[in-house]
Amino acid sequence: TWTFLTPNVTPSHAHSPTYPSLLQVAVRVRPLTNEERQRGCYRILEVQDDNMLTLMNQATDRNDHLRQKREKDKHFLYDRLHGEDSTQKEVYEDTTKPLVQDVLAGFTATVFAYGPTGAGKTYTMVGTPEQPGIMVQALNDLFQCLNDPSKISKTKISMSYLEIYNENIRDLLQPSGTLDLREDAKTGVIQVAGLSEREILTTKEVMRLLTKGNKERTCEPTAANKTSSRSHALLQVNVRKSAIKGVGEEVKVGRLFMVDLAGSERAKQTQNKGKRLQEGAHINRSLLALGNCINALAEGQAKFVNFRDSKLTRLLKEALSGNCRTVMVAHVSPSHHHREETRNTLVYAERAKKISKKIRPTVLDITSHVTHYKQMIKELQEEVERL
Ligand code: ADP
Ligand code: MG
Repeated sequence: TWTFLTPNVTPSHAHSPTYPSLLQVAVRVRPLTNEERQRGCYRILEVQDDNMLTLMNQATDRNDHLRQKREKDKHFLYDRLHGEDSTQKEVYEDTTKPLVQDVLAGFTATVFAYGPTGAGKTYTMVGTPEQPGIMVQALNDLFQCLNDPSKISKTKISMSYLEIYNENIRDLLQPSGTLDLREDAKTGVIQVAGLSEREILTTKEVMRLLTKGNKERTCEPTAANKTSSRSHALLQVNVRKSAIKGVGEEVKVGRLFMVDLAGSERAKQTQNKGKRLQEGAHINRSLLALGNCINALAEGQAKFVNFRDSKLTRLLKEALSGNCRTVMVAHVSPSHHHREETRNTLVYAERAKKISKKIRPTVLDITSHVTHYKQMIKELQEEVERL
């Protein structure tokens, strides 16, 4: 007999110093590209330390007289900042490596790459053979654990890679038509009917599959960019661990979702028309639904989220329902050309982060109100006694 066990208790990362909460928000600033340098782009971002990023109000040429006007600079705080010189290894180790242990223990975890087109999402997630990204490094780490001879249980690792484009789901490893979402009547688990699943054994194979899969992603020219990723790419890694228990076999399934989201730029700015505009609306719908889920997650109100709002949130329902760890890596360009999109991205990421911290001051407010009323009652009682 096979029993599928998906733990639904919260793993104890509350004690982990690097991951005090279930939602972590990191920001990565990519380097200026050669083209940007040649065009004379200047930087509008300054990384202050591991947590603080400054969006500068004015030009930053070293000898710029406008430096005096810097008082309008805006400072943003995040769990982690990765500057222009951050390596793929650092980004992986700070954001995703801590999740791998959860997944091996049978939990679900999610990593999102958020940001406008060209800000470095795909570089962070997939990277190159020389500079492998988060997806490749995570699988590599999972493979390392497999090779541990001390493990008595059998472990299998498999992956599926799909895209959501215009609210349609397509298999990126075995491209065919559009696939449907099915909900298991008994378990409530949402699955993509007919999605291929590859058992994988080497890191090289992963890189090859992801690169091939990315070529299948729907990319078409828009006014803002020659090639723009209008689709969300979702890599799902399943880790199945089986162990003999009594007369049967117990199977634990850990899942790691790694998502390269569609560009977050607004349709208005890309001057899209017709089809493009419709895509924009779909992308915004998914991103909006995701934003709502993440906010609710940060507030601990996942119960009130409508996962059905988009395909993306339906697929990630389990991951977003509040008992899994989620990491968002927001991406920005340092160039002054992208000021508006950079600001939007930084605000979005900050909002996701701030909500969990907001709870405390609210409680303090209530306490001060209570103190105030207690004082009033005391004064009134004294007045009554005097009468
Ligand atoms: P997105 O997926 O967000 O549209 P890409 O990942 O394709 O953006 O990045 C745009 C360009 O910038 C690519 O040429 C990519 O190689 C380069 N790039 C992005 N991030 C980095 C980085 N951290 N270091 C070096 N090059 C980068
Ligand atoms: Mg991309």
